[in-house]
Amino acid sequence: MLSKSRYVRGIKCQKSLWLYKHKKEEQLVSESAMAVFSRGTNVGELAQNYFPDGKMAVLEDYPGYASAQRTQEFIMQGVETIYEATFIYDSTLVAVDILHKEGGKWFMYEVKSTNSTKPEHIIDVAVQYYVVSGSGLPLADAFLMHFNRDYVRRGDINVKELFVADSVYSDILSNQEEVRLKIPELLKVLEGDEPVIEMGAHCSNPYDCDFCDYCASLLPPKDVEIIELSNIPEVKENEVKAFVNAIEYPICHLDFETIMPGVPLFDESRPYQQVPFQYSLHLQESPDSEIQHFQYLAPSDLTIDPRKGLIEQMINETKGGKTIFVYHIPFERTRIYEMMRDFPQYTEPLQSIIDRMVDLIIPFKRKYYRTETMKGSSSIKKVLPALYPELSYDDLAISEGMAASNAFLDLYYCNDENVTKQTREDLLKYCHLDTLAMVKILEVLKGV
Ligand code: SF4
Repeated sequence: MLSKSRYVRGIKCQKSLWLYKHKKEEQLVSESAMAVFSRGTNVGELAQNYFPDGKMAVLEDYPGYASAQRTQEFIMQGVETIYEATFIYDSTLVAVDILHKEGGKWFMYEVKSTNSTKPEHIIDVAVQYYVVSGSGLPLADAFLMHFNRDYVRRGDINVKELFVADSVYSDILSNQEEVRLKIPELLKVLEGDEPVIEMGAHCSNPYDCDFCDYCASLLPPKDVEIIELSNIPEVKENEVKAFVNAIEYPICHLDFETIMPGVPLFDESRPYQQVPFQYSLHLQESPDSEIQHFQYLAPSDLTIDPRKGLIEQMINETKGGKTIFVYHIPFERTRIYEMMRDFPQYTEPLQSIIDRMVDLIIPFKRKYYRTETMKGSSSIKKVLPALYPELSYDDLAISEGMAASNAFLDLYYCNDENVTKQTREDLLKYCHLDTLAMVKILEVLKGV
């Protein structure tokens, strides 16, 4: 038997489909993929309110024969909205997120926790349509329901405004013959031996396969030629000096961390908006003065908007700085423009922060300063170890932005005081290193 998710898996890679059935123990689901999955589940439940008072067909954990039977009973009873409506046809089982009847016609809705319809979503709906209509239920249209990127939360979530539904009817109709031919092909794969498929671009497109480690372990060991990369800098002295000489003291080094909830958690925020919850700031009054450190980390409470406290403290702590260094200016500048849009009362001081911002990435992006060990990258994660190998993110419990974001979101649900305390310390250490790295990078440039 196939299911919608197995079908989609098989379209991406037949080996992945086979492994999922026969060697599931080799599957490695990353934490970020698990977070996406659980987000998707919650969003699906929220979207049901778009058509309230429906009946749930799946009472067990997973849709199966009993839920298919219950769906048929609901249809016979005249129920007009069915959640997880389950159908089986041509050895394939699908559960439609929302099946809704209006004006005597049936419509199906597949919910995605994204801000737009993506090509891979069409495959989902195409196989669902094939099974539902093949089971004998005519469908008047098929929709993909996703977030409305322009929705702004004000008060309780308005589900009718949060979601938009795109008809994908014409796309899926043209895919029906392909689905019909693919199903027996994929069923045959499941019954056969492990397919021989080489790793390639499809392993990470449109998302990472969860059997990558397994497949990589089957590759013959390569004779890796170890190339020693030089850490000796190639420096365009005049350009570096011009950059350094333009610095006006006092200087600040600023870096944000953000969360990006699909369903907006706070008023004046939108789906998947990057909401800053933390910053680190190093401040130096003059070239010879001591460097001071400031930081902000919002309370571990997602009912409180972290931005207002962050904005006020940041305005206050940066007000003396004539130069505000950030690393990769589009990120911090965009966050501050969003703050101005969402909190217009702070427009003037926030605009002043933007006006004083200087991007510390410039000397590396423009190749004024490079080493072979940077491998052509100007990312701080490559530049820092090249300049200061002893200052590494590798030793930190939280070592990249997505992990910081997930850790902060998890804090809200954490009831263990010790874990909360430790996680908050880890978050502070991570963000602190981001601006300390900038301090150290500037020292190197000043030494040229
Ligand atoms: S890692 Fe690549 S080749 Fe291996 S199962 Fe996944 S998609 Fe297929």
